[in-house]
Amino acid sequence: MLNPFERLKIPPKVNETIKSMLNRLPKIAGSSVKDREIRRLNEYYERVKKYYTFVEQFPRIEELHPFYLESIKIITDVDKLKICLSITRKASMISMRILKKYVNQIRKSPEEVANKLMRQAFGRVSSILRNSSECIDSVINIATELKKIRTIDPTLPTIIVAGPPNVGKSTLVTKISTAKPEIANYPFTTKEIHVGHVILDLLRIQVIDTPGILDRPENERNKIERKAINAIRNLNGIVLFMFDTSISSVLSIESQIELFKEVKSMNKIIIPVINKIDERYEEYYKRIVNFLQSEGVTKWYEISAEKGTGLDKLKEELFSLILRGNINDISRN
Ligand code: GDP
Repeated sequence: MLNPFERLKIPPKVNETIKSMLNRLPKIAGSSVKDREIRRLNEYYERVKKYYTFVEQFPRIEELHPFYLESIKIITDVDKLKICLSITRKASMISMRILKKYVNQIRKSPEEVANKLMRQAFGRVSSILRNSSECIDSVINIATELKKIRTIDPTLPTIIVAGPPNVGKSTLVTKISTAKPEIANYPFTTKEIHVGHVILDLLRIQVIDTPGILDRPENERNKIERKAINAIRNLNGIVLFMFDTSISSVLSIESQIELFKEVKSMNKIIIPVINKIDERYEEYYKRIVNFLQSEGVTKWYEISAEKGTGLDKLKEELFSLILRGNINDISRN
């Protein structure tokens, strides 16, 4: 399944449509004045029709996968979007009807009124579009943003790499999949969800790099964090939760532990991964290990995503579990 918005054709904003149509008018010629005015209105009709097709092709909100539904909720209010879709539909339908009606009228009328009728039609339709432009343009903005979500197939076996900001998620995803996320030494580099793939014995595995999450109440989280939570909650897969035990970790050890507990409560298969083992700060490292042991976790991985330490073992065990379809073998602890 593709991102349902991926193939959506997004029309230009209202002002742009009207402006470019006004620029086009002098360039449209015809065999007679009537013919010219009919051509002008027909061209306007085709441009208005783009709004109608856009709404018709907009994925049905009720049928969206929960991941994509939540992606909409992060951007906008769903009820408002539905109202705006309906307003866009109505405005385009009425405009198309008016343009058709005027074309017929011009056909039946004498040459000398053709230009006047064309201008009437042009004015009426433009003012209908302008009156609805707030809604039409907002649907366009929303669709543009949704289209940007990297194609995520909720039906593929998935590895979701999650954790606090700057722990090395993007570095790990780059090392184990085809994804090419940006890597930088500052938090919140990853603002969107990045997807990479691994092909194993013809099986396509999706590896998802999520934005960093801070340990704070849900209602205080920003849009970037909510995108990560959405992926963890609504995609079916194994979560690799990364800890940072280096001295420069963005979140304190307590906060990393709290965040881990929160992600664990989402009832996903969660595999703890301690990263930056090359720069581990002994006291932090011990606290994480003690915590994991106290939780009864029997399996975690210690890696340096950057230096490549421990990656072969992690990949081998992770992929073989997925290949065997035996995800439940991994402790849910
Ligand atoms: P993200 O924000 O969790 O995706 O983290 P990034 O992958 O962008 O990495 C954040 C910073 O940590 C970058 O400067 C990386 O080079 C560095 N980094 C990542 N993995 C390791 C590691 O294993 N060891 C060390 N020392 N640094 C690492």
